[in-house]
Amino acid sequence: MQIIRDIATLHRAVDALKQGRKSVALVPTMGALHEGHLSLVRMAKRVADHVVVSIFVNPTQFGPNEDYAAYPRDEAKDAALLVEEGVALLWAPDVGVMYPAGHSTHIEVAELGADYCGAARPGHFDGVATVVAKLFNQVRPDIAIFGEKDWQQLAIIRRMARDLDFALDILGAPIARDKDGLALSSRNAYLSAAERKAATAFPNALKAAAKAIVGGADVADALAKAEADIVKGGFDSVDYVALADADSLERLTEFSEPARLLAAARIGKTRLIDNLAVG
Ligand code: AMP
Repeated sequence: MQIIRDIATLHRAVDALKQGRKSVALVPTMGALHEGHLSLVRMAKRVADHVVVSIFVNPTQFGPNEDYAAYPRDEAKDAALLVEEGVALLWAPDVGVMYPAGHSTHIEVAELGADYCGAARPGHFDGVATVVAKLFNQVRPDIAIFGEKDWQQLAIIRRMARDLDFALDILGAPIARDKDGLALSSRNAYLSAAERKAATAFPNALKAAAKAIVGGADVADALAKAEADIVKGGFDSVDYVALADADSLERLTEFSEPARLLAAARIGKTRLIDNLAVG
């Protein structure tokens, strides 16, 4: 596997991969790779001839009081996992390559970025949309794969790609979960043993709410119960638990398909997100 850190070498390497009309799939990540990321890599292998993974901890998507400095980084371990998966190329630029002095352009996906995590993390999705657009232009993949774990992010990237006429296909991959139902996340590494045990209350509450809503329960009641159950289970606070139209992300006060439960909650110093199809 080639590890590349500058754009000119990247362009040459991707051109070489594409020779003979071969297709390239990109899996963007921030590293600290786990089975969730690897499930995206495996999907990429199924749908394209070559897989490019990017690892870039993107400073512009972290707020001033967030965990940019503390975010787990272990490129050597990540690279070893990607070699085992048969990845052709690891794109791992430094911050100065991604954002050279004077970098002053950004992308805002206004409609989809305001609510949910966008409300709790101002500027976060502008940072995500901008870096993903740059990754698309840098790698020029035929396909890019994102996890459904970050449902709002996936919707925003689909809209950005459509609005800006990016000529690639975007695929969503199902959420990879631990045996007890907790969605895999690099941030799970922050949890103490006691917090990790308690964290299962989060997916359990969403599962119960989805079942209640499909069974005809009042949506507001089901969401309030889920919030209460998450706190009762040991979380310190709930940022939001919402029922949303799965595509437009508009909040739903009554159940209609396609619907998705979207949620974020805090336990100790860790903020976790999750989501679930309803119906
Ligand atoms: P991150 O490194 O957290 O930015 O994630 C990189 C990509 O992996 C994103 O598209 C995430 O949605 C995806 N991802 C992270 N965790 C999971 C998971 N548990 N299941 C599926 N996809 C995931």
